[in-house]
Amino acid sequence: MNSSEEILILGAGPGGCMTALFLAQLQIPCTIIEKSQFPRDKICGDALSGKVVEVLKKYDPEIVQQFAEKDFQIGSWGVNFVAPNLKSLRVPFKSQKNNSQKTVPGFLSKRIDFDYFLFREIQNNSLINIIENTSYEKVQRTNNGWEIHLNNGKTLNPQLIIAADGAYSRFAKEFGNIKMEPEHYCAGIRTYYEGVKDLDSENFIELIFLKEFLPGYLWIFPLPNGQANVGVGMRSDVIKKKKIDLKKAMNQCIHEHPFLKERFKEAKIIDGMKGFGLPLGSKKRKISGNHFLLIGDAASLIDPFTGEGIGNALMSGMFAAHTAQLAIQNQNFSAQFLNQYDDKVYKRLWSELRLSRVLQSLLKYPFLFNLVVNKANSNSTLKHAISCMFEDLELRNQLKNPMFYFKLIFG
Ligand SMILES: Cc1cc2nc3c(=O)[nH]c(=O)nc-3n(C[C@H](O)[C@H](O)[C@H](O)COP(=O)(O)OP(=O)(O)OC[C@H]3O[C@@H](n4cnc5c(N)ncnc54)[C@H](O)[C@@H]3O)c2cc1C
Repeated sequence: MNSSEEILILGAGPGGCMTALFLAQLQIPCTIIEKSQFPRDKICGDALSGKVVEVLKKYDPEIVQQFAEKDFQIGSWGVNFVAPNLKSLRVPFKSQKNNSQKTVPGFLSKRIDFDYFLFREIQNNSLINIIENTSYEKVQRTNNGWEIHLNNGKTLNPQLIIAADGAYSRFAKEFGNIKMEPEHYCAGIRTYYEGVKDLDSENFIELIFLKEFLPGYLWIFPLPNGQANVGVGMRSDVIKKKKIDLKKAMNQCIHEHPFLKERFKEAKIIDGMKGFGLPLGSKKRKISGNHFLLIGDAASLIDPFTGEGIGNALMSGMFAAHTAQLAIQNQNFSAQFLNQYDDKVYKRLWSELRLSRVLQSLLKYPFLFNLVVNKANSNSTLKHAISCMFEDLELRNQLKNPMFYFKLIFG
């Protein structure tokens, strides 16, 4: 294959950019179309987890170093859980203790900056052909792939389409049969503030599980220059059932809730409330088919407990590039051949997605959450175990075992 138009990526978000970069590393050219012009905003919590760092390092350890030197990011060293009983549990990310070089385990960076950072990487790569400010219109199957009409008047005939066009992907809906299912979908809103009091000194992210938003949460994430990303995420079926106006409820909590109102008394809004959908990976879906692969939000891969999706978008982009390489080598783009992509993605992600689904449903019982936080605050071994749970899935599994809570109560 030598034409960059034979592999087409839809969308240059983190998932699309990462796919293009891994393809280029494998010496495979591609074209990527993006409807916006960079730098562009994306509604998000702006937290870049350890998994983002893991995939970026797999691509090139240097890129993490370069990112860590930018002044538009800050390192994050842990998470502060606030249980429904308003007791806090500060849990450092484990890497801090184990890592002799003290690499930052996670970052916080506005998406307008992080996404542009990745976008510039693809701009600098001669194997990647970028068509910005362009969307797709009619998409039709052909004998050997696709005929896709762009809104700039151009028509492309790729053999393989990698859909990375996010939560509202038209391609995923039409050809991947991906539906919006309220039980596996979350609505999120984000606001940028300055002047929020008591932001964490080590940039721990703050997840506040107020009973008003269960099984979701309100977050306060510190950003550079004393700013903060503040938002709420909640499952769509619960919003509908409880008839909640999420923006109104968030505003009310910030101005009236005893836990929050003092902290926001002098805070100023820099950018008002904006909403966007989060397609959750709490259900296994078919994410490939004849001549196509779906990645990131287009494949509904967001963690149902934490709401993190950037890491999974990058991870699925990496697997998509590897699968595309094999498809080219074998000249086989059939649904049957590309199914190995689903296997790779779910082999890596399914156990944690499933577990997060269980944790999300446990939030129906806020007393369990209160119990864990109360006990961990007075038991350093338990606190350390919870810290390790972020990286150790086996340990995290204990949270769904009734014996874990039995031991907490009577142990
Ligand atoms: C409120 C909220 C808070 C969140 N907080 C976090 C968090 O803190 N940490 C985290 O890890 N995740 C978070 N997420 C999830 C995260 O934003 C997504 O999982 C992530 O952006 C997925 O990346 P992606 O590349 O798949 O899609 P996107 O980032 O959505 O990128 C898709 C790209 O495709 C382009 N596009 C769309 N349609 C077309 C088209 N027709 N033609 C061409 N291009 C198109 C878009 O312009 C965009 O650039 C949050 C989401 C929301 C809504």
